Amino acid sequence: PVVTRFAPSPTGYLHIGGARTALFNWLFAKANGGRFLLRIEDTDRARSTPEATEAIFEGMRWLGLNWDGDAISQFERAPRHAEVAHAMLAAGTAYKCFSTQDEIAAFREAAKAEGRSTLFRSPWREADPADHPDAPFVVRLKAPQSGKTTIADQVQGDVTWGNDTLDDLVLLRSDGTPTYMLAVVVDDHDMGVTHVIRGDDHLTNAARQALIYQANGWKLPVFAHIPLIHGPDGAKLSKRHGALGVEAYRDMGYPAEAMRNYLARLGWSHGDDEVFTTAQAVEWFTLDGIGKSPARFDFAKLENISGQHLRMMSPETVAAQLTEFAASQQKPLPDGVKGQRLNAALPLLKERAKTFLELIDSAYFCTADRPLKMDQKAAQQLQNVSHGMLNALTQQMQNVTWTATDLEAFLRDHAAATEQKLGKVMQPLRAALTGSTTSPSVFEILVILGQEESLARLNDALS
Ligand code: GLU
Repeated sequence: PVVTRFAPSPTGYLHIGGARTALFNWLFAKANGGRFLLRIEDTDRARSTPEATEAIFEGMRWLGLNWDGDAISQFERAPRHAEVAHAMLAAGTAYKCFSTQDEIAAFREAAKAEGRSTLFRSPWREADPADHPDAPFVVRLKAPQSGKTTIADQVQGDVTWGNDTLDDLVLLRSDGTPTYMLAVVVDDHDMGVTHVIRGDDHLTNAARQALIYQANGWKLPVFAHIPLIHGPDGAKLSKRHGALGVEAYRDMGYPAEAMRNYLARLGWSHGDDEVFTTAQAVEWFTLDGIGKSPARFDFAKLENISGQHLRMMSPETVAAQLTEFAASQQKPLPDGVKGQRLNAALPLLKERAKTFLELIDSAYFCTADRPLKMDQKAAQQLQNVSHGMLNALTQQMQNVTWTATDLEAFLRDHAAATEQKLGKVMQPLRAALTGSTTSPSVFEILVILGQEESLARLNDALS
């Protein structure tokens, strides 16, 4: 059975690239009926605060990337990492190295001067334990010095290193704490991870980690190293391209489903499909679909996908998610009459909005108190219109049956009778009713607001 994992280092937020890695692991596990695990790589004690870990949980929860079982703390497993290192010492696949930092530096300098490889070769590799001093030591892997190590990567293809380019890496530091390289291998092995899907900045680590697997006689997982995400300009994604934490995208009002769709398309494809549900992505996901070249973050595409998802969602789904979004922004949606108006308008509004934030903005006419704030263009239109005409229209509207059909018929007749284009008649109405010059159909808005409120708004505009 497939077991994947996401192994973030807590740095304060869930990085966009990390979220993409998490999503690929989640999709691959789901696609194969497997398990998806979460391991927090919190060995850097200075950076790894509970808040930083919580931010990762929160980002994952928002994205719906539910993990199986409890999240694992790498730091808490340090005794187990040390146990493996000591077992390796006993088995002779690792050795105690007493070289000091100064000795290592001197070795490198001499090697450089003589034009040899500066890779450190410890004199303690073959030392007789009887000759060991009573001094601090690190535990090093006794790595093969000849031959080759090949990673059959599912994205990058076969990648080969000469073993003479890989050193006897440190497994345990002199204070007895495990190195990152040892911890990752022991954790992945103990967690039963079958597939390691992660950024290709870890590709060389894979070769070194493979040596640790081999030294222990453990089966290697399948590796898939995905190209890192670039910004629109082709440079590695960084702050200057925009927000890097997923929570910023939640706060901008992108639906999680749209974000999953967009993140999936950052480096993975299924034919020409651009807009798809998460269920479809689960059905389609394979490692073959991951591209070899870096994907570029494209804000316009994210917006476009987001708008399409809002259109695809049922009004009920939009209402539920909008409620959640508004609550997360500490701006709960109104109830009572305003809430009813909003609900009635949602099917119209969701057709035009690209984010929940836009949706809320466009719902201003539902939630505002009279007198409405007019935006600049709306104020301009109301200034330009003849108040006599608008007044007459408002008076006549007192006698119209308040349905979209009757209102439309009435306004068309009115336009014809006064020899104006329908649009001309509608402009000031839209402005007075919504405070803006863009909105869904004015007929629908009149119905949503009801006769009393509509006429009151028109009168506000006239006063
Ligand atoms: N903690 C590492 C990172 O955040 C990931 C290690 C791994 O996936 O093996 O880059």
